[in-house]
Amino acid sequence: MENIYDVLIIGAGVVGSAVAREFSRYELHIAVLEKELDVCMETSGRNTGVLHGGFTYKLGSLKAQCCVEGNREFDRVAQELDVPFKRTGKVVVGFDEKDMQSLLKYKRNGEANGVQGLEIIDKARLQEMAPSAGGEFAMYSPASGMLNPFVYTVALAENAAQNGVHFYFDHEVTGIRRHEGLYSIQTNQGRFCTRWVVNCAGLNSVQVSEMLGIGGYTLGGFKGEYFVLDKKAGKELNMLIYPAPGPNGGFATHATPTVDGNVLIGPDSRLVDDFEDYRATPESLKQLVLDGKKMFKYMKREYFIRNFSGIRPKLINKDTKEILDFVVEARKEAPNSINLVGIESPGLTSALPLARRAVALMREQEKLLPNRSFNPRRRGILCFAEQSEEKKKALIKENPDYGEIVCRCETVTRAEIVQAIRNPLGVRSLIGIKNRTRAMMGRCQGGYCETRLVEIMEEELQESEKEIVYGRKGGKMFTGKVRA
Ligand SMILES: Cc1cc2nc3c(=O)[nH]c(=O)nc-3n(C[C@H](O)[C@H](O)[C@H](O)COP(=O)(O)OP(=O)(O)OC[C@H]3O[C@@H](n4cnc5c(N)ncnc54)[C@H](O)[C@@H]3O)c2cc1C
Repeated sequence: MENIYDVLIIGAGVVGSAVAREFSRYELHIAVLEKELDVCMETSGRNTGVLHGGFTYKLGSLKAQCCVEGNREFDRVAQELDVPFKRTGKVVVGFDEKDMQSLLKYKRNGEANGVQGLEIIDKARLQEMAPSAGGEFAMYSPASGMLNPFVYTVALAENAAQNGVHFYFDHEVTGIRRHEGLYSIQTNQGRFCTRWVVNCAGLNSVQVSEMLGIGGYTLGGFKGEYFVLDKKAGKELNMLIYPAPGPNGGFATHATPTVDGNVLIGPDSRLVDDFEDYRATPESLKQLVLDGKKMFKYMKREYFIRNFSGIRPKLINKDTKEILDFVVEARKEAPNSINLVGIESPGLTSALPLARRAVALMREQEKLLPNRSFNPRRRGILCFAEQSEEKKKALIKENPDYGEIVCRCETVTRAEIVQAIRNPLGVRSLIGIKNRTRAMMGRCQGGYCETRLVEIMEEELQESEKEIVYGRKGGKMFTGKVRA
């Protein structure tokens, strides 16, 4: 039997999840179709997690507008959704006159975009503010900050689900037809019917546009690789350190403290044809070490614990190769559809403003009634490691599961793991637990806790270890026993 909705959203990255949350403010029957087994399995889980200030984006562009809007509101959003956020500030450092001219240009551009508090600081002030930064001078952006992209995306999706949105994972959209004023959406697990479609398919947004009958878009995949440094390095870095942008804009490798206390070195930028190729490349890793040291004086090899990459879906003009603005549109050739294409950086910062623009496009065409029971607040999983000793004791007394440390590196307790397994979206993968709790994200990368996590999942989900999936469909953890 077909499932009939008012709005179907394709893709559960940060944008699809924000769109779901913003539509759930209205009396609408809404669902999200996601090909992966969890939210943020593509670009939204493969980025730097910076809340950008908005000083590099072209004056008047959607990127500039959405970034500045998203930045300004984030203290409130972080509170509403109970997500970690630090407005650390950022220094964009320079070494010579060319860099100074570039910084002055971006300062003027940022001020015109409405970014507040930008100032040029000399070496003495730079050393005082960010002692680990390289550079002779800098532009300081106090509005820039850090968030956890996994937890933020999960929070948006959970809040949408609490407000009535249905999430279907492992549902890949393979075709779209329009018949008698309704869309029929074909997936690998059956057909859905809807009055409205919203395309939030990220790296696949051009294919989904084409399924809707909208052609003419080209995405360039710009891959960026990273090193993750352990928390010892995090103690040496108190704010984001970026190099001055080159003549074509865009930042080279930077050093970023994460909201959880690690450091990211990267990303670089390289055009790739394969949008699913997240493999590390020796050339990039070598260059990251050289470039990273210029930004962050205390970078040492012994701090490296992992590397990863993400691919920026940049909309490009096929002829001129110019990088184009975000697209959020409602086109006549695909009635009752909202199409989001080219949502590259600063897409994380801009997710909610983009979502509001999607809602506004629907409102231009039909009256939307408010959902009177909409609740913007969502509570996350309490982080045991961050509590005072007194609070920790009280938690253990209340629930002895807080007394069992499962992940030693990140001090994640059994109580947090169990809450993550019982997540409101019904996600059942090991990566799902990792992204919600930080278990397996520390120095040993799961070497100690992975098997214990699987045991707890077996108990909670009543599944055998052979059923437990690591992250992606078919990615089973165990196939059998090595020894009886
Ligand atoms: C290296 C890098 C660094 C970045 N750093 C920052 C930063 O610091 N700050 C910032 O603001 N932004 C940053 N960004 C940009 C930001 O990460 C993206 O703009 C944002 O995550 C895009 O979100 P999305 O939801 O559009 O895409 P995605 O997260 O890719 O979500 C799209 C979803 O659609 C699903 N999907 C695709 N096709 C189908 C289909 N046919 N059927 C069903 N589901 C489908 C995918 O599985 C995916 O989950 C960075 C990006 C990269 C790559």
